[in-house]
Amino acid sequence: MTRGTRQGEGRARDGFARAVVSGGAGFLGTRLCERLVALGTEVVCLDNFVTARPDSLVELGKDPLFRAVDRDVTTAWEVSGEVDLVVHLASAASPQDYARMPLETMWVGAQGTRLGLELATERGARFLLASTSEVYGDPLQHPQGEDYRGNVSPTGPRSVYDEAKRYAEALATAYRKQRGTDAVIARIFNTYGPGMRADDGRLVPTLVDQALGGRPLTVTGTGTQTRSLCYVDDTVRGLLTLAASDCSEPVNIGNPWECSVDWVARLVRELCGSSSPIEYVPAFADDPRRRCPDISRAVENIGWNPEISLREGMSRTVAWFAGFHRADAHGE
Ligand code: NAD
Repeated sequence: MTRGTRQGEGRARDGFARAVVSGGAGFLGTRLCERLVALGTEVVCLDNFVTARPDSLVELGKDPLFRAVDRDVTTAWEVSGEVDLVVHLASAASPQDYARMPLETMWVGAQGTRLGLELATERGARFLLASTSEVYGDPLQHPQGEDYRGNVSPTGPRSVYDEAKRYAEALATAYRKQRGTDAVIARIFNTYGPGMRADDGRLVPTLVDQALGGRPLTVTGTGTQTRSLCYVDDTVRGLLTLAASDCSEPVNIGNPWECSVDWVARLVRELCGSSSPIEYVPAFADDPRRRCPDISRAVENIGWNPEISLREGMSRTVAWFAGFHRADAHGE
């Protein structure tokens, strides 16, 4: 395949020759870098590994198109040469991680985004910001369309993440307006799949790890709160489709199929062949009661929608985590 020539994701652009991806060692970043490299794009990954799995870049590191630099992107991006795509994924993303690193989370949303936008502006590159459904907070409107302004507490326990992303969105919008930066915002909804850390505190890895380990599955609150879970390959395809488009507005990337947390726990238990009980524990403060994207804009403007069902995606995820449990059991 010709370098930088993409298949399937190309719309407005024929391909990216060289991309800089911050947070490229994380859950979404690894998958996104793998996809870019497979499409012939040279990738420079900037990551300080604060929430990355230690082995996340082992396979990617063997590819000559891929280079990882240990770098805190709140201090410098410093990449020489031509760049035609900048993807800013770096940020703590699980509530457990950003509770542990509140200031770092603010800085990477603020200063990290500013430096990424500077690099993209200077090189004339497309800039893709990984924002989040958390900008909608505990939403009062369902499903959430991009025009919904959200219900966010500026001082609540999740505020460092939500407000850092809201600031990052405002900054990307201001760079587009004042400096002509080719910036676009992806509002990513809950994504799951192989590659997550078992202990990162997010819903799916927590439940799968508990079920495979024969422990009770913990569900917060009554379990009737809903989530819309998108399989990682669908999310990454959405991000790359958005990057390749000429879209300039924020776009929701998520799976609109909404289900209760209790239902997810029962599915995980079934797929793991587990007989563990479900245990109800107190809900987290500010935990959203409903989450569901309206993806009409993604469908109409960039022709994207998710393809992998929750059962299929969850089966793949369980199989991936089961490999680690088997290795642990054999002391590998
Ligand atoms: P992750 O924690 O697995 O990956 C984040 C990566 O960023 C890690 O490798 C971490 O080491 C790196 N990082 C953090 N701070 C850094 C810094 N200052 N300098 C350099 N690297 C730094 O998270 P993820 O799930 O892959 O999420 C990636 C992005 O997508 C985040 O911006 C997150 O807010 C966004 N997002 C993810 C989801 C999801 O469900 N996974 C949903 C909404 C938004």
